[in-house]
Amino acid sequence: MRFTLALTTTATLTLGFIAVPAAAQAHTDPHTATGYGGAVSTVDATATAVGLDVLRRGGNAVDAAVATAAALGVTEPFSAGIGGGGFFVYYDAKRGTVSTIDGRESGPATMTENIFVDPADGLPYDFQEARVSGLSVGTPGTLATWEAAANKWGTRSLGSLLQPAAKVADKGFPVDATFRQQVADNAAAFGQFDATRELYLPGDAPPAVGTTQRNPDLADTYRLIAKRGTGVFYKGQVGADIVRTVQHPPVSADPAGTWAYPIRPGGLTRSDLANYQVRFPAPTKSGYRGLTVYGMATPSSGGTTVGEALNILEKTDLKKATTTQALHQYAESTALSFADRNRYVGAYTSPGVVKKLLSDRWATQRACQIDPAHALTKPVPPGDITAAGCTPAPVGGKVEEGQSTTNLTVTDRWGNIVEYTLTIEQTGGSGMVVPGRGFLLNNELTDFNFAGTQGTAPDPNLPGPNKRPRSSMSPTIVIKDGKPFLALGSPGGATIITTVLQILINRIDLGMTLPQAMAAPRGSQRNSAGIQAEPAFHQLYGPGLTALGHTFGPDVAELGAATAIEFTRHGGLIATAEPVRRGGGSAAVLKR
Ligand code: GLU
Repeated sequence: MRFTLALTTTATLTLGFIAVPAAAQAHTDPHTATGYGGAVSTVDATATAVGLDVLRRGGNAVDAAVATAAALGVTEPFSAGIGGGGFFVYYDAKRGTVSTIDGRESGPATMTENIFVDPADGLPYDFQEARVSGLSVGTPGTLATWEAAANKWGTRSLGSLLQPAAKVADKGFPVDATFRQQVADNAAAFGQFDATRELYLPGDAPPAVGTTQRNPDLADTYRLIAKRGTGVFYKGQVGADIVRTVQHPPVSADPAGTWAYPIRPGGLTRSDLANYQVRFPAPTKSGYRGLTVYGMATPSSGGTTVGEALNILEKTDLKKATTTQALHQYAESTALSFADRNRYVGAYTSPGVVKKLLSDRWATQRACQIDPAHALTKPVPPGDITAAGCTPAPVGGKVEEGQSTTNLTVTDRWGNIVEYTLTIEQTGGSGMVVPGRGFLLNNELTDFNFAGTQGTAPDPNLPGPNKRPRSSMSPTIVIKDGKPFLALGSPGGATIITTVLQILINRIDLGMTLPQAMAAPRGSQRNSAGIQAEPAFHQLYGPGLTALGHTFGPDVAELGAATAIEFTRHGGLIATAEPVRRGGGSAAVLKR
């Protein structure tokens, strides 16, 4: 958010007890901070300040991550909040272990495979029609994630960690250009619900840049949860309000009859909420040039897809390759691993299949198809995991995109690390604010495929009872010689996978520092005809890649909004946020 810039020049940020003097940061780049003793990187200066304050007061990385995420629920409400879900990866410095929390939304117990098929004509709903509805809302997992993290690894109560965010919601924060644009992009959807319109469309228009955005309902909700515990959300009054909103979407009157489609109710029930549980899957683990890369297990495809692509890339010495050849290998590795993801990865992928996809033998079977002189014809077919040798199976897959979500990276003085990606799916989620509660409900269930995408082969990502939709979120922690080296993650739908991978190879293979690796132009080949690229990537690398037979899809203004921390010798930290994307992020260290 652009607020970062104001903070670092003239403003003093005051969050009740938190005061961050501008002078303390004025001489430095707000997107990169180098120092010791703990660090926080997010997309937003207010949230980063909240996390840093928790660290300063002796909280650990988990405490700070939860407080930071709660603050992002206020200042980045269209990307994250207690109406959504996410994946939390934790490195415990004392034990040297990596653990995860799967706080992904789950579908209702009554969800069927054809939930997104219109009974009137048997065809899948238009995406927006499915999204802005009760149908798309899964049981939110974010609050349960915070509670599990705080109880298992934190040192503060969840209630106390919600207080700074409640203060931000009460006092408000300045609307910046990114916030305003996100509302403007959602004006039609938001305008259909009184509760959303009242909160985000004052005077029926997006809030002006520089005005103060408050959310007293959310402040009250956070305080209610702080006082009564998460039971009030999963088994109590807040949960009842969520279920009412889903089953009877609080649609405003439409006297002019101007809305494009009916707002359909969803099937989420109070027992779906009461039965919700986070999971604690082991992280995925893959080796890359002597490093160990930990990622997120299913239902995210982040860990398997980043890991498979790295294994394929490991077959080539990218350090010795030309830039064009390195990016050619990168694009081919992701096309191949996306084909496999689409065929094999969903909530119920067996451990055996995951193991196979992350094996070096599988990478050899896939990498053998890459020709250094010619791009493969896209889409490439998925590999046949029952076969040996270099033989692909005969069906292609579909391409997905997205732009929302948020990511945070935190470390503390003890060396613990949290890498956490959280989302409500599309920017603005389902468009429905729970009346009187101040938070948007997710549309995560539209991450399921609406119909099979794999021809005659089974599709691993079709809806089903209680099922969690496949994700691309890729919170990643890299270990070198038994010690943390890098922690990173990003939003961006399916482009998350390529963004995380590109930052990794930029840093590890292509000679860039972490800030350079983050800032570098991005391109994303997800087994579609063309590479989806930022204009600078297209301009710089288009001629070389086109000569090898690659094509480019329509350019996009930006891909992802990553955050990362690099761990250097003797406890040094390089905390990095985006310099430009999403209006620029905010990275800070405890001691410079
Ligand atoms: N729902 C997406 C996922 O889980 C993330 C959405 C986004 O980043 O745009 O992969």
